[in-house]
Amino acid sequence: MSQDYDLFVIGAGSGGVRAARFAAGFGARVAVAESRYLGGTCVNVGCVPKKLLSYGAHFREDFALAADFGWNPGAPGFDWPTLIDNKNREIARLNGIYRSLLLGSGVTLIEAQARILDPHTVETGGQRYRARHILVATGGWPQRPDIPGAELGITSNEAFFLPQLPRRVLVVGGGYIAVEFASIFNGLGAETTLSYRGALFLRGFDRRVREHLRDELRLKGVKLEFGADPAALERGGDGSIAATLKDGRVLETDCVFFATGRRAMTDGLGLEHCAAQLDDKGHIRVDEHYATAEPSVLAIGDVIGRVQLTPVALAEGMAVARRLFRPEEYRPLDYALIPTAVFSLPNIGTVGLTEEAAREAGHDVKVFESLFRPLRLSLGSQHEKTLMKLVVDAASDRVLGCHMVGPEAGEIIQGLAVALKAGATKRVFDDTLGIHPTAAEEFVTMR
Ligand code: FAD
Ligand code: NDP
Repeated sequence: MSQDYDLFVIGAGSGGVRAARFAAGFGARVAVAESRYLGGTCVNVGCVPKKLLSYGAHFREDFALAADFGWNPGAPGFDWPTLIDNKNREIARLNGIYRSLLLGSGVTLIEAQARILDPHTVETGGQRYRARHILVATGGWPQRPDIPGAELGITSNEAFFLPQLPRRVLVVGGGYIAVEFASIFNGLGAETTLSYRGALFLRGFDRRVREHLRDELRLKGVKLEFGADPAALERGGDGSIAATLKDGRVLETDCVFFATGRRAMTDGLGLEHCAAQLDDKGHIRVDEHYATAEPSVLAIGDVIGRVQLTPVALAEGMAVARRLFRPEEYRPLDYALIPTAVFSLPNIGTVGLTEEAAREAGHDVKVFESLFRPLRLSLGSQHEKTLMKLVVDAASDRVLGCHMVGPEAGEIIQGLAVALKAGATKRVFDDTLGIHPTAAEEFVTMR
């Protein structure tokens, strides 16, 4: 039977756009269907607007610091609608760039919801298309806990479009989004509480990193409630929300923000019309080449639930395009040593093993740590401390992990990720000269 396309991509987010553009560049006939927004989560309700809000939130400290350097910035005032309007304008510009990138690379763009009808047919925008391969890159969606009144809370999707900054915010959760948004709301001036059901947030990160961020957030005024989990939300007469915790305590707030994880977006996708299967968490199950149980249907990005980061979705998209249409250039993606940053204030940057994971993996571990007040803060009254930590395998001297909490941690760790990928030992770190005076030089002067 004749095919309309070699590749039909469902979802124009990070992974889908990358796969589509590369495949078209390799000469394939490609279409992409997008139901909501070009660029997906990252561009519209994720990485990009989040980082813009985070920059906005940091100005509070910058104004205070400016005075320590002799500036007289006056009494700064903050206007949330201005920040949101400017952010929206920038996102609209990026949406346009994504459109031009797709069209410019010869991809057919269909702006509608898509549904799989059979292993080689997709229906979208009232039309049916035949395709040799179908790539599902539909991303994820925030999930709320199943408690009475959960609909009174918002998620990250809504947070980016709130008409006003709430006076009080309760952020529920202890992952990336929870600590990032608690920092944003706090920095912008909302009375911010974070409640996390466990004993300490950011499960999976190095313990020292988690403890240090806990202490810094407290110093900056975020109220942290650990071992605290809302059981019900109720609207009060004055518009406030009462969150009753499982231990019976009641927290009064104006906005509850659920940052309680994300599920795979497979709603209305028609996966049941092919042999593709979901795993027990609802992610699409794929093999090491991103093929589902239906050989013509592939899946990448957040919807497969491996590592939910934009650079990973991009790399998976590129891998699929190469394997299908330029197999001689195909290399499987290496999931080891993926660097990551959490844009809390202060930021976290990390690559490689935590001390706990290294010990669990049987390494005899040497740990190097540096805790210091950055030079930039030395003239004033701000007491934020930067933490840097190296986890080293004592037997081989290989650096297994680099962790940092402090300004621009992501920028610094990105370079160290290259060193770790190259197999750098502690000796190589020691033999590397620093750039003085920087914070980053601490990573090569730890003894
Ligand atoms: P997405 O980008 O979610 O794209 C999926 C697309 O598919 C969407 O546009 C959706 O509308 C579309 N779609 C869904 N179903 C259909 C359908 N049936 N038909 C047509 N279209 C459909 N990662 C980082 O690396 N750094 C960060 O700083 C960062 N910050 C984040 C902050 C937040 C608040 C969130 C929520 C996420 C953040 N992430 C970050 C994660 C990152 O956004 C995701 O890992 C990434 O977007 C995944 O890309 P994807 O292509 O798998 O899916
Ligand atoms: P995470 O999976 O990181 O964290 C979810 C948090 O919610 C955990 O602390 C979890 O607790 C808690 N939780 C889950 N279910 C419930 C529940 N029913 N009741 C109470 N608490 C609950 O998810 P996020 O939503 O923060 O982010 C999703 C993913 O997006 C991240 O994992 C990351 O991959 C990506 N992302 C990346 C960013 C970056 O690169 N800077 C920024 C934002 C997101 P517990 O630990 O006990 O399970």
